[in-house]
Amino acid sequence: MLMEQERELIVKYGKKLISSGLTKGTGGNLSIYNKKEGLIAISPSGMDYFETTPLDITIMDLKGNLVEGERKPSVEYEMHLIFYKNRKNVFSVVHTHSIASSTIAALRWSLPAVNYLVGLSGENLVPCADYASFGSKELAENALKGMGNGYAVFLANHGLLTTSTDIHKAFYIAEEIEHCAEIFLRAKAVGNPVIISDEEMVKMNILFKSYGQNK
Ligand code: 13P
Ligand code: ZN
Repeated sequence: MLMEQERELIVKYGKKLISSGLTKGTGGNLSIYNKKEGLIAISPSGMDYFETTPLDITIMDLKGNLVEGERKPSVEYEMHLIFYKNRKNVFSVVHTHSIASSTIAALRWSLPAVNYLVGLSGENLVPCADYASFGSKELAENALKGMGNGYAVFLANHGLLTTSTDIHKAFYIAEEIEHCAEIFLRAKAVGNPVIISDEEMVKMNILFKSYGQNK
């Protein structure tokens, strides 16, 4: 079986999507790109995350050809592939339907730096990509353009998309952006949130580089 480790990670983080409240039902999808193999492992379309096993994960090449797997890949496979083809530092893509992010996406707003953790997106704000139907090539293109050089983007009237060098980080960014989105909406509900200056956010970027245990 190809990409066993990646398959297991997709299964593990799929369950976490539900248990962390980042998605409902079969919404959202996840993938990992193995550059050495030139292949991606992606979650199957419309399958319960707690019933998905490593065998259900689909293996595709960068052209979108099915290489191994019995299941239909996520309808958003083009939205995953487009990042691996266009962003050198992206090896995992996570898509969620989390409530606060989807609320901001429904308003077609961007998320300003209401909290230092917005900086995990790699930018001073999380933008909202233009609307396109789910599963469309246009959505993939809008998401790539919308994310720019950052690691997070809202999908208009849909949800959140994050990217990183591995699935742990892409998932972590999704969790923290959802957390910031909720803070933003709560702050907006009672007043005018104060936005952190661009200068201070540059400092955050530097601090994040050495944050945690593995540096
Ligand atoms: P899949 O189940 O095909 O991954 O679709 C879910 C989704 O989030 C569509 O945007
Ligand atoms: Zn979706």
